[in-house]
Amino acid sequence: MGDTPTADKPLTDRLLRSWTRCRRRAWLDRYGDNQLRLYTAHRTLQLDDQQRSFVALLARKPGHGLQACEQGADGVVGLRLRSTTRDGLAVEAHPALLQRRKGSSRWGGFVYRPVLARQGRRLTREHRLQLALAGRLLERLQQAPVPNGLALAGSGRRLERETVPLVGTLQHQLDESLAKLAADLNRPTPPALAADRRKCTLCSWRGVCNAVAAREGHLSEVSGIGAKRREMLMDIGIDGLTALADADPDRLALQLERFGEQHGAVAALLVAQARAQRDGRAEPLAASPALPELADAPGVLLYDIESDPDARDDFLHGFVRLPRGMDGRWDLSLATYHPLLALQEHGEAACWARLSRLLKRYPDWPVLHYGETESLALRRMAQRQGMGGTDLAALRRQLVDVHERLRRHWRLPLSSYGLKTVADWLGFRWGQPGVDGARALLWWRQWRGSGRGDRGHVQALRWIFAYNRDDGLATWAVAAWLLAQEDSVRKG
Ligand code: SF4
Repeated sequence: MGDTPTADKPLTDRLLRSWTRCRRRAWLDRYGDNQLRLYTAHRTLQLDDQQRSFVALLARKPGHGLQACEQGADGVVGLRLRSTTRDGLAVEAHPALLQRRKGSSRWGGFVYRPVLARQGRRLTREHRLQLALAGRLLERLQQAPVPNGLALAGSGRRLERETVPLVGTLQHQLDESLAKLAADLNRPTPPALAADRRKCTLCSWRGVCNAVAAREGHLSEVSGIGAKRREMLMDIGIDGLTALADADPDRLALQLERFGEQHGAVAALLVAQARAQRDGRAEPLAASPALPELADAPGVLLYDIESDPDARDDFLHGFVRLPRGMDGRWDLSLATYHPLLALQEHGEAACWARLSRLLKRYPDWPVLHYGETESLALRRMAQRQGMGGTDLAALRRQLVDVHERLRRHWRLPLSSYGLKTVADWLGFRWGQPGVDGARALLWWRQWRGSGRGDRGHVQALRWIFAYNRDDGLATWAVAAWLLAQEDSVRKG
């Protein structure tokens, strides 16, 4: 760890943001060893998004710092605001943008209000607290009230503006949050791991925290246990993976039933999963073949979509075409990659025409994908584009969810059945290490530009294609493993 706990450093808006996401994260931001942080494209995506939103909001380039405020610039960046709270805590904020409004301040006949660009579908507590902190400090500097802030969304393409009131209970929440943040930062050791570990995938401290979770046998390490179930298990005295693996399933079912019948029903599955992970053992769950569609198939298409969830845009439909070799075996050296880029400005009908042409060329080839995203997206598009019931049923039969088959046929000693974890366990390696969906999305946004002809470098597209192709090959790695298990059972 780096620094030792100290109360004299200011509480910053960055620390407050981290703390709103996870109490432990703020502590690590201040005292953790920065060399152990892992890059996440999420922050870069956010900054990229913010930049586009601000450009769409302002007619002119914003001014910089206090001087720009004094001159009454329409937008101001680079201003550092400092003050102390009623409790004597030093606080500091660095608002991304200030917007000029009508009013009266120490600088003349105008005032400023803080602006932020939010990602995601909704305004959250994190956004409100950020605006409230900036507003409070700005109020003191400009000597005029800041009754509201502005939240932008839509990455500038179809800019949404939401006025956020900064008065009333929000101020009380801000005081409470700052006091709790200060208390957490005064602890000699970091707060516990986040109860909901899904948020860890976007956090730069995930390497450090995953190692702690694995070492401690944290319950969140058991596949199928989220924040709520973990709380229930802790409540009945099961405090870790080993305790869960040692539990009697029938007794556990009775104990969990008091939280609702559905929780009792999964007790045996949770214990079995914990045992598989404790013992490092893969366990077959069904005798039937996992992928019977492949028995006589002349080939398979491996299908993976890349999306921009905020824009509800499936921008890439990637297919790896894998024909069966002359000797009847699956030979990866025959695989070829076929990316179908779906530009929103070309419309869905054009995308569907290309997709259906490709699928029609391979009517007997199962289309393998991992998770339900691809199947849902393709079938919904087909329906919107007027595909009839019989064809839709045939398309449905052609789509094979390898993740679903894996879950139905195998219990694995893994904390997750996600493609990355499973393929990694099978020894598959992505050509571009450390790349994830967020990085691919960043490349996409950089390549696409504003959508008004300012395309980025074509290399960004090549990286996306390579990543997408590897996801298809990783799906095949899982399918090939399933086939190999059946082979070994048949021979053994
Ligand atoms: S990795 Fe998870 S637990 Fe660790 S600081 Fe980040 S969000 Fe919190």
